[in-house]
Amino acid sequence: MRFGTIDGRLVVVREGLALDVARHSSFSSDPLQVLARFDAFAAWAAEADFSEAVPAENLGPPVPNPRQVFAVALNYRPHAAEAGFRPPGEPLVFTKFPSCIAGPDTEVTLPPGKPDWEIEVVAVIGRGGYRIERDRAWETIAGLTVGQDLSERVVQSRGTPAQFSLGKSFPGFGPIGPVVVSPDELPSRDDLAFECRLDGEVVQHGRTSQMIFPLDDLVARISAICPLLPGDLIFTGTPAGVGNRRNPPRYLRSGETLVSRVDGIGEIRQTFV
Ligand code: ZN
Repeated sequence: MRFGTIDGRLVVVREGLALDVARHSSFSSDPLQVLARFDAFAAWAAEADFSEAVPAENLGPPVPNPRQVFAVALNYRPHAAEAGFRPPGEPLVFTKFPSCIAGPDTEVTLPPGKPDWEIEVVAVIGRGGYRIERDRAWETIAGLTVGQDLSERVVQSRGTPAQFSLGKSFPGFGPIGPVVVSPDELPSRDDLAFECRLDGEVVQHGRTSQMIFPLDDLVARISAICPLLPGDLIFTGTPAGVGNRRNPPRYLRSGETLVSRVDGIGEIRQTFV
C-alpha cells in the first residue's frame, strides 16, 4: 500500500491515482489519526474502490506534522570513515525539528554557510509503541519513504561539543515523499537501493542493507527511551558522498537541482535558491 497527502489530506495512491481517504471511508483525513489504526487502514486500502480517484499530483509530505523526528548520524561505515570517525558503538540520535518537514517537490531557500545534502531512507511509524522488541519492530512501522537530511555544516559544527539539530532544521530541510510504501509492498524491506544526483551527477548511492544499525534495531533502541507515536519519522542515516567530505568540499548552490531516489518507492526533487 502507498499513501501520501494532497493539501494535507491523507490519500491512498495506486497506479498514478490518489483516493481521498476521508471522503471514501470512515477514517480521518489526518495521517496521525489514521496511522494509529494502521492495520485497519491497510485492510481498507487494499479493497478501496478507485473509481472516484484523481491523478496523484501535487503530493505534499506524507506526514505533514510529525510529533517526533529522529535522525541517526554515521549509520553507514563509509560515511563514518569519510567523516573521520570509527563506526559508532551505539546509534547517534539527533532530531530534525518538525518545522523543517516539507513535501517531495520543493524549492529550498539556502541559508548562508555550507548547505549540504544527505539522502536517507525514512521510516514512518504506524501504531508505534514503547519498549518495542526488535523482532516485532516492523509491525509498528507503517512504511518507508524517501528523504533528504539537508544540513548546514557551519551551524551543525558550531560549539564544543557540536550539536546537530539546529543546523539540520532550517525551513525545507526535511523533504520527504512522494509516498510511504508499506513494508509488505517492498521486494526486500531491508535491502533497498538508493541514490541522489546533483544536477544529474550521482553524488551518493547505497543500499539500506549497509546500515550499521538496521531499522528494527533503531526502533528497539529508540523506543526503549521515547515511546514512538503514530506518524513519527526516523531518518536512518546517509552513506558516503556528502559535499563537505569531498576534496575540494562542495556545497549546494542556487539554481542546482537535487534528485533523490529509492528503488520501489520513488523520487523527490529539490531546487535551491
Ligand atoms: Zn543524516
